[in-house]
Amino acid sequence: MRYVIVGASAAGISAAKKLRELDDDSEITIISKDDKVYSRCMLHYLIGGQRDVEELNFIPKDFFIENKINWIKGKTVSSVVPNQKSLILEDGKSIFYDKLLLATGASSFFPPIENLSETEGIYGLRNLDDALEIKDSAKEIEQAIVIGAGLVGIDAAIGLAELGVKVSVIEMADRILPLQLDDKLAAKYQAKFEESGIEIITNARANKVLADNENYVRGLELTDGQIIDGKLIVVATGVRPNIGLIKGTEIEVDQGIIVDEYQQSSLEDIYAAGDVAQSKELFTNELALTPIWPLAIKQGEVAACNMVGITTRLSDNFAYQNSMRFLGLSTITYGLIEAEDDGYQTLIREDKDNYQKLILQNNKLKGAIFQGEINGSGVYGRLIKDKIDLSDKLDDIFNLTYADFFKENKDGVFSY
Ligand SMILES: Cc1cc2nc3c(=O)[nH]c(=O)nc-3n(C[C@H](O)[C@H](O)[C@H](O)COP(=O)(O)OP(=O)(O)OC[C@H]3O[C@@H](n4cnc5c(N)ncnc54)[C@H](O)[C@@H]3O)c2cc1C
Repeated sequence: MRYVIVGASAAGISAAKKLRELDDDSEITIISKDDKVYSRCMLHYLIGGQRDVEELNFIPKDFFIENKINWIKGKTVSSVVPNQKSLILEDGKSIFYDKLLLATGASSFFPPIENLSETEGIYGLRNLDDALEIKDSAKEIEQAIVIGAGLVGIDAAIGLAELGVKVSVIEMADRILPLQLDDKLAAKYQAKFEESGIEIITNARANKVLADNENYVRGLELTDGQIIDGKLIVVATGVRPNIGLIKGTEIEVDQGIIVDEYQQSSLEDIYAAGDVAQSKELFTNELALTPIWPLAIKQGEVAACNMVGITTRLSDNFAYQNSMRFLGLSTITYGLIEAEDDGYQTLIREDKDNYQKLILQNNKLKGAIFQGEINGSGVYGRLIKDKIDLSDKLDDIFNLTYADFFKENKDGVFSY
């Protein structure tokens, strides 16, 4: 059997590891555009100087040798040819597979802002090279701009601020981290960022990049006419799955590659996992992109099991979870961050350093937010995922632990 994986990151590596665990003999090949294995979640540490390239690696040094994996690194797959069961690399070489996993992730999306693509000094933050280039350019400048105050934008801003660069973050929504945080939590982080010299401009839209005579960025004009100075711009306005290599095939695609609960695409023997895949998400029960690291790992493992013939369903595809720790302040959120209408009950417990909010509907938990002390919050995520009825737990709802939900069955086995 020849297993081929495209992508050497969270999904691809976890799949390869699982494949080798389950099948000691077959040939495993990973092909990746990246010539290093690294965690994208830690790129801001590279920008800020807290970690070097080696310290972003998340696999043991001898991973490929130990696991007898052939890694073709630094090569782009241009196309997949399903009826020949082959891939074509950018240099024209063909690679044949029996089972294929597409784990190609996603790329930064650049919105249509005047001069954005034509001007020098504009970066996404997705790949190692982006982070290295940002770090390098930041040496020579005093002011930078980040477009987008989602998790990637905030990471970029913190990394740049660590280098002593004055950063302005432009956000279209009325608060930072609008998909992850409610008003209150966002305001708390915003105050912390501003204290550390990061300027936040909300309700703001970028209109036009301003360039100097040498075509290097010198600032950004907003739609209200305001000019923000900065000699480097990081664009953090979302990502798009890397699906170019399957163009022209019959593999079903929406935003990403559509997969079933076995991570199989619409074509037999072709699987997809991680940020490139679109799968049934547990909280919404809808087909969605699930672009978070833990799900890329899990989906890669599930794909591998099915590739070797061990039928395995992805049971825990819960993308509505976020954890963050910025400037010493931790937050975990699960499910909804705000009640959607009057049919929900919102309970809040807070003191000076901690904030906890639970959102219930018909006595079932739909959302949970913990800021400050986050120990013990995991159980609330589980209650949302498992749709547990909490009618008899409402009195002590902020003090629940896993122990409250374990019961001993007649056969002596514990269940949840
Ligand atoms: C700055 C930043 C911070 C983040 N922080 C968090 C966080 O705190 N928590 C969290 O859960 N998630 C975070 N994420 C998201 C997380 O990194 C992704 O969900 C995860 O990396 C997805 O893994 P993946 O394997 O699907 O794809 P990717 O990590 O995108 O890897 C894709 C792989 O495919 C290869 N590839 C792509 N196209 C081709 C091609 N045509 N030919 C050959 N190889 C190809 C690439 O070289 C790469 O090896 C962050 C992302 C970024 C960018």
